[in-house]
Amino acid sequence: MQKRFEQKIWLSSPTMHGEELAYIEQAIRTNWVSTVGENINELERMIAEYVGVEHAVALSSGTAALHLCMKLAGERLNPGAKPGKALEGMRVFCSDMTFDASVNPVVYEGGEPVFIDTEADTWNMDPAALEKAFGMYPDVKLVVLAHLYGVPAKMDEIVSICRDHGALIVEDAAEALGAEYHGEVVNGKCGSFGDYVAISFNGNKIVTGSSGGMFLTNSRSDADKVRKWSTQSREDAPWYQHEELGYNYRMSNIIAGLARGNMLHIGEHIAQKKAIYERYKEGFKDLPVVMSPFEDKSNPNYWLSCLLIDKVAVCRQERGEKRALYISEPGKSCPTEILETLAACNAEGRPIWKPMHMQPIYRMNPFVTRDGNGRARSNAYIDEDGLADMGADIFRRGLCLPSDNKMTPEQQEIVIEIVRECFD
Ligand SMILES: *Cc1c(COP(=O)(O)O)cnc(C)c1O
Repeated sequence: MQKRFEQKIWLSSPTMHGEELAYIEQAIRTNWVSTVGENINELERMIAEYVGVEHAVALSSGTAALHLCMKLAGERLNPGAKPGKALEGMRVFCSDMTFDASVNPVVYEGGEPVFIDTEADTWNMDPAALEKAFGMYPDVKLVVLAHLYGVPAKMDEIVSICRDHGALIVEDAAEALGAEYHGEVVNGKCGSFGDYVAISFNGNKIVTGSSGGMFLTNSRSDADKVRKWSTQSREDAPWYQHEELGYNYRMSNIIAGLARGNMLHIGEHIAQKKAIYERYKEGFKDLPVVMSPFEDKSNPNYWLSCLLIDKVAVCRQERGEKRALYISEPGKSCPTEILETLAACNAEGRPIWKPMHMQPIYRMNPFVTRDGNGRARSNAYIDEDGLADMGADIFRRGLCLPSDNKMTPEQQEIVIEIVRECFD
């Protein structure tokens, strides 16, 4: 083993600038350290203006925001449903290749996720599979859509299909703050398309509050409901008066100070991440790989740079539920070999999100591919190892590369060299 970084190269770590501390200090000095204060108000104002929506409600996490999205959708589709059962008896179409936080909140409210396969052009929900799914399950009225790794999904197609079928959209823009989509049907920043929208300020996202999330909407009454539910559903009364179930989901003014300061640098973060993506693209141009794709009309935020190995250049790789093995071959490699080699050099990569239909917790849920096959491991894509759908195929051949915006061009050159050597 040739190189080893003295200091670890992270996948995507928080990047602080100074204003974060100033806003936190101000909150402490003025004693506004709880879930009320100027940092919260300012952060909500900044994000609503930046994304182009009317209202933003600061919450404790993106997952909390998604949960309240599901409650709102459930309330509209299923009026009078009991708490925790807003989606009871409902199937919900969900992105398949995503973080499980996109999907778990459907289950918190009693819904049954039906997973929609992934397309090749943006690695997001496949509109053709979504259309097929509406043919199979015409009663479905809710779609949960994530924009993976900061790349906008095919929003024109998806919004049109949802309109045709009268379905609401929960937009999970946790990874896509700042990404832009320019379509015929819809146009603008990710986070401005859904009926209900969640973003995240988790520590590894492009803008962070150390943790935290936000609910975005153009509906005043929905914003008011989320603000109330997130503070234990206190009524406007002189004592603690409660008419409905509440949650402790509000963001603290300290976290908001961190996110507020960090948000001042979103443009810089996107530019740095874009430069990282382009250096990888250049560095790998003669390898049998492609970089994670996006549509020409989109401007991703380049949160994570990902790589897909050509089918002919994947070496033998076996993944069980918790361990992986591979056999190295000249001219070929696999995600396991690259990730293990990077780790040995003190650099952090990550596998692609393992698709939900392959997860033990969701293995029995329906899964729909573009050819309408309702089985996992359909013949949407066939390779020499047997049958695989698009999601399983990207999981098998893809990986996330170190994408930290503090990585220097010199350090990145070494990362590129390490990956290149995996194909020797
Ligand atoms: C990070 C993330 C979330 C959850 O956000 P938290 O703030 O960590 O709860 C949800 N969906 C996706 C796609 C994410 O990447």
